[in-house]
Amino acid sequence: MKVAVVGCTHAGTFAVKQILSDYKDAEVTVFERNAEISFLSCGIALYLGGQVKDPQGLFYSSPEELKEMGATIKTQHNVQSINPEKHTLEVEDLLTKKVTTEYYDKLIMTTGSWPIIPNIPGIKSKKVLLCKNWSHAQELFNRVPEVKKIAVIGAGYIGAELVEAYSLKGHEVSLIDAQNRVMPKYFDHAFTDRIEATFVKNGVSLQLGQSVQRFTEKNGALEIKTDKKAITADLAILCIGFRPNTDLLAGKVDMTPNGAIITDDYMRSSDPDILAAGDSAAVHYNPTGQNAYIPLATNAVRQGILVGKNLKKPTVRYMGTQSTSGLSLYGTAICATGLTAEAAKMQGINARQVIFEDNYRPEFMPSTTPILMSLVYDADSKRILGGALMSEYDISQSANLLSLCIQNKNTIDDLAMVDMLFQPTFDRPFNYLNLLGQAAQAQAAEAEANKTLV
Ligand SMILES: Cc1cc2nc3c(=O)[nH]c(=O)nc-3n(C[C@H](O)[C@H](O)[C@H](O)COP(=O)(O)OP(=O)(O)OC[C@H]3O[C@@H](n4cnc5c(N)ncnc54)[C@H](O)[C@@H]3O)c2cc1C
Repeated sequence: MKVAVVGCTHAGTFAVKQILSDYKDAEVTVFERNAEISFLSCGIALYLGGQVKDPQGLFYSSPEELKEMGATIKTQHNVQSINPEKHTLEVEDLLTKKVTTEYYDKLIMTTGSWPIIPNIPGIKSKKVLLCKNWSHAQELFNRVPEVKKIAVIGAGYIGAELVEAYSLKGHEVSLIDAQNRVMPKYFDHAFTDRIEATFVKNGVSLQLGQSVQRFTEKNGALEIKTDKKAITADLAILCIGFRPNTDLLAGKVDMTPNGAIITDDYMRSSDPDILAAGDSAAVHYNPTGQNAYIPLATNAVRQGILVGKNLKKPTVRYMGTQSTSGLSLYGTAICATGLTAEAAKMQGINARQVIFEDNYRPEFMPSTTPILMSLVYDADSKRILGGALMSEYDISQSANLLSLCIQNKNTIDDLAMVDMLFQPTFDRPFNYLNLLGQAAQAQAAEAEANKTLV
């Protein structure tokens, strides 16, 4: 069985390892444009901020490792076209420029995503950088330390992390976004208001609610013209989102409107011999029960494994995602899972949100720390749809627990009373997540009582 894997970062690497371990008859060939595989982009901001000392540590596999496991690795090879009827690929060796035709029985599309680059005048300036792969990372590592003023365009997770790193390194940083809040996809106002205040406290110039119209190089600097003002920087970094890299299969398999490959529960596309995983594929988003485009490494590695397990026949079902994610900004952990209240409203769900703040452990302990929490739930069924936590205390694993609640369709009543340990070193007699569930119960009871009164 000839298996061709196109693209080898996270989804590709995990798929290759799973296939080689599960099928002794598989002849696996990997085609990857870059010279390296398995680069963790999430380490870019950590290296820039000084927490990661050696960027080579951001690779967790190598072409040599996959070769030793039995794969044929063709790095610096670009797949130019795919013919699903003939089961062939046209592949260019980027070093020799030679193009060959390769045959496959099963094709794994792990071609990932690419930054969205809007058609704005001047965007091709060498002073506008991207932040996605190892070659972007090297450019950021080499060029940014030399300059003073940096403009980050896009206030999502990646933009926020870059802004933190640069502001801590003493750069003058502007954060520009068309939305009037930072990270609005992940957090509601109670959280973003505080995040914005922290940015301002750290000297970041927030330029929200304005969209970039033009880039012009002027006197060695870059002028960024928005619909409200002109902002000057030495370099700009574009982080406004990603689009799936799936042009090779356009019109050949079913896709979402933005071009993500739609798969069934076993990662099979509408062509039974083509499987897809990672940023090139849509995910099943459990809070809404619909397909969504959520380019995260969390999804890529899980889907990569499933591609391997389901290569020959449907074996292990994909359980979907809550899009659970987290980041640390200026010493504060900020994590989210599932829907925000705003997103639930946009989906037409009759959702309620409770915001609750409490210290994580009793005040009689030598120290304690407040946690800001949010729970979004279906007002009719009381099912948990989303949650967020923010604290100087590490609350990341609590976000993971809320993710499991959403996955398992738990209600606020479940969260209020579920068994959780108590010991004053760690928490109160009721853990703070129990208390969050109880705050939601009290809110729901009050809403019910008010209904009865009417
Ligand atoms: C700065 C940054 C920080 C991030 N932080 C996090 C985080 O903290 N947590 C998290 O869960 N996610 C994070 N992500 C998202 C995560 O990196 C992506 O979801 C992940 O990289 C997706 O992996 P993938 O293998 O599906 O695709 P990609 O990483 O996009 O890799 C696709 C590969 O396919 C190759 N390829 C594409 N087309 C061809 C072709 N025609 N021929 C040959 N090769 C081809 C590309 O060269 C590439 O190597 C971050 C992303 C960025 C950019």
